[in-house]
Amino acid sequence: MIIVLKPQASRADAENILARIAEAGLEPLHMPGSERVVLGALGDERVLAGLNLESDPMVESLKPILAPYKLVSREMHAHDTIVRIGNMAIGGSAFQVIAGPCAVETRDQLRNTALAVKAHGASAIRAGAYKPRTSPYGFAGHGPAGLRILREVGDELGMPVVTEVMDTADLDLVVEHADALQIGARNMQNFSLLRAVGKAGKPVVLKRGMSAKIEELLLAAEYLLAAGNDQVVLVERGIRTFETAMRNTLDLNAIPYIKQKTHLPVVVDPSHGTGIRDLVIPMALAAAACGADGILVEVHENPAVALSDGAQSLYPDQFKALMDALAPVVHAVGRTL
Ligand code: PEP
Ligand code: MN
Repeated sequence: MIIVLKPQASRADAENILARIAEAGLEPLHMPGSERVVLGALGDERVLAGLNLESDPMVESLKPILAPYKLVSREMHAHDTIVRIGNMAIGGSAFQVIAGPCAVETRDQLRNTALAVKAHGASAIRAGAYKPRTSPYGFAGHGPAGLRILREVGDELGMPVVTEVMDTADLDLVVEHADALQIGARNMQNFSLLRAVGKAGKPVVLKRGMSAKIEELLLAAEYLLAAGNDQVVLVERGIRTFETAMRNTLDLNAIPYIKQKTHLPVVVDPSHGTGIRDLVIPMALAAAACGADGILVEVHENPAVALSDGAQSLYPDQFKALMDALAPVVHAVGRTL
């Protein structure tokens, strides 16, 4: 429930109502605006009804939050949230490009790839030290050694690093090394991981599950916000459909839809979204055109020898072509690159 106070309501009036909400066992929220103080109450609506807040002389109106995801919803928080990952801000006027290999393979591989993407304008490095693989025989990442390489290269180049955490057991180590924690598609509904990551104090890059509805993605984000973290970037990375020509079907409808429903930034991953290198540039341009706040894109110094996702990884010169092609599209939609 959103509780709008009258203009003359004092801070003490607001605190009094917040205390009543908390005493009833609901979660009180304080959202001071420039003109009005707005309060929130999360929890059982029947308990809330028992508080009779509509008859409080300082309450102007009560508005139910209809969406099941309350904190994530624009009903609760109308303006865009800017997520800060190191020195990069996502969700504002700049269209952000996070680029790097699927996995950290060697120090030279990560460093050479990162140098190339930095030279062509990427703002952050992506690479996995822990890789979720469909086959137990696939390269699953170097774990702690990969994290150390990632941190060293990020520090050397002055770029924030985004990397996946797959298991709560690794969370402390990933938090120590990363600027943002990625939750992968396969873990989008790992609720214990979501709760733990929500409390970890680092920005989160939350990928849509390959069979997840948009509402389920937004409810997964709600776990993170409910745990106290509003620094969450959502990622559309393609979903499973009947179409088998591509690895996934990139759901670009989701971008303007999600932007209407939530204040959180949304980025597109055209690499996993297509699985095919030659489709990455056109779909990245489409992502910028339909309102995404950035892209998460796989680039490898030599995709032909990549240990994972080589077929969808751009060569460095293709990444340059991507950045060149993005600029006019990004400018056409009123943003900067
Ligand atoms: C990745 O980003 O390399 C990855 C494993 O992505 P997803 O979880 O979207 O499959
Ligand atoms: Mn990958």
